Amino acid sequence: MTTFRQLGTPARLLLLFIFLAAVPLAALGWLGWRLLDQDRALERQRVRERLAEDAGLLAAESERALGLWEIRLAGAIQLRVPVPPGGVFLVCSSKGVLHQQGVHLPYYPAVDSGGKSGSNSFNAAEIQEFQTGDLARAAAMYRKFAASSDQSQRANALMRLARSLRKQDDIQGALRAYMELSAMGDTIVAGTPAELLARGERVTLFRTGHDTDATERESHLLTDALEQGRYIIDHATFDLYSRIAGGALKTDVSAVETARAIENLWPLFVQQPAGRSMVKRSRHGLVAVWQPSAEGTVVMVGGAETLLAPVFHLAQKLEVRIAFEDARGQLLAGDPRGRQEHATKTYRETGLPWSMHVWPADIAQSQDQWKARRGLFGAGFGLMGVVIAAATYLAFRAVHRELAVARLQSDFVSAVSHEFRTPLTAIRHLTEMLEENGAPQDRLPQYYRALAREARRLHGIVESLLDFGSMEAGRRTYHMEETNPAILVRRVVDEFRERPGGGGERLAFDAPQNAFTVRADREAIALALRNLVDNALKYSPESSPVAISILRRGELAGISVEDHGPGISRREQRAVFRKFVRGASARAGNVKGTGIGLTLAAHIIKAHGGSLELASEAGHGSRFTILLPGERVEQ
Ligand code: ADP
Repeated sequence: MTTFRQLGTPARLLLLFIFLAAVPLAALGWLGWRLLDQDRALERQRVRERLAEDAGLLAAESERALGLWEIRLAGAIQLRVPVPPGGVFLVCSSKGVLHQQGVHLPYYPAVDSGGKSGSNSFNAAEIQEFQTGDLARAAAMYRKFAASSDQSQRANALMRLARSLRKQDDIQGALRAYMELSAMGDTIVAGTPAELLARGERVTLFRTGHDTDATERESHLLTDALEQGRYIIDHATFDLYSRIAGGALKTDVSAVETARAIENLWPLFVQQPAGRSMVKRSRHGLVAVWQPSAEGTVVMVGGAETLLAPVFHLAQKLEVRIAFEDARGQLLAGDPRGRQEHATKTYRETGLPWSMHVWPADIAQSQDQWKARRGLFGAGFGLMGVVIAAATYLAFRAVHRELAVARLQSDFVSAVSHEFRTPLTAIRHLTEMLEENGAPQDRLPQYYRALAREARRLHGIVESLLDFGSMEAGRRTYHMEETNPAILVRRVVDEFRERPGGGGERLAFDAPQNAFTVRADREAIALALRNLVDNALKYSPESSPVAISILRRGELAGISVEDHGPGISRREQRAVFRKFVRGASARAGNVKGTGIGLTLAAHIIKAHGGSLELASEAGHGSRFTILLPGERVEQ
């Protein structure tokens, strides 16, 4: 019993169940977290392996792309090589760039000036020009050379002719000579293309002659030519003529960057017969591949995105991003990488002129997948948590109820024992007295009546218990017959009145004028009524009356029992109908009872298709009403 009571404290029991639920929940959570962690690590490992594999494929593809360019360069017949858009193909010797194809660059690293051809031929004329000072004669001699069929000699002669004419202040003549020289295009004169040199000189001439319009026109032509990269000239020449042209040049940025990159790579082209390289540009890296050939070193320079296009295509197909970096970790081409999971192929591993980093193209997608998995797990865990909590709650409720019933049962057993003890003690006293013949003759009837009363009381208790037992087991059968409630009530009231000390004198019953009948098991309804009347008498003060009345409510016939006792609080009004439950009035007044009276009554009335109503308020008495389906009114 004590264990029931100890365990039964609802707060303690609740704590125990919360603890029991919390342990598996915590274990589940921990396990789930570990599982997620492992899943994530596994996913990372999988991604790493895939990326490493992709990086290998991309390195092989890079090697293949570069190899292809090398084959193309080596097989360049008559210097015909397909130059990709934005690319430059060069043929160089140690002296400089011999040939150019593709994008026009503003300048080249070093330019083969083509020697000083014809310079000796002008000795005689130059003596006239510089030593004798006979400029007219010198000019005549230069003019003769200008008619030569040797382009180089002709260009040199025209340049010198213009010079000597300028000295003679024959500006128009000089301008004409420069015009002629200009028409000679790329013929090299004094290490400079004839056209460029002539244009430059014309600009200078117009400028010194303060002919603004002509200066502007000529410098415009010069600017245009320089911007378009019309000449194969070196950096210094480009700078010189840019200054002569005046104004800022709008040279294509990527062409300037390519020119600068080639300038930086130039020592490699000269020193290494063959090679590959990638240099940084502002937008995309620049790839250079060079090979030896009969004409000199053949070089292909182009944007990484074009020369390595197959590599980028493959990366796209593999759904990865790629970064090309130099040995110092500087990004040369591709996408700048963040701190995400990536695979690396260093230049040492691959032999390529760059290190490669590869990472998933759609990081958000892989993160989304991970988030979805985490969400799914969270939902599963939440669901499991709810199930565990619900199961724990249900178990708690069931155990709590069981404990309450067990407690009530134990209370019931002690209550029944007490119920038995009082009449049994009285019977024992009386029989002992009679046995010892200690009672006077005239009091014998009184003793016998007392004996009968106590025996009846015992019988009543036993009957009630038996009724309750058969009702609980569902074995209670009812013998229905036409019954007049007024007669039934009268019988029960009389029973109480006949019972000495039973309180029957407090009962007030007025039979109604119009009687009616109900179909009922008379004994069962009498038992229910007896319980209600017994309660009304035992819970209300000894002097207070108990009113029993018959009523009709529509089709229903009712018997109500009203007292002026302590009443039943609202909180208890449902509980008192449950078996073994004893209320506050029983505890406060220390009233004997077993807690099955109302259960029994309610059960019987329900079996008749009726109901047992309770109207009560703490401190203001109670009214129990038996409502049964009515039959007909007797006239
Ligand atoms: P018992 O009377 O043996 O305790 P019952 O099932 O008849 O068992 O009644 C259950 C409880 O209902 C009682 O313990 C008592 O607290 C309360 N009760 C019943 N009838 C009355 C009444 N007329 N006035 C006050 N309380 C009552």
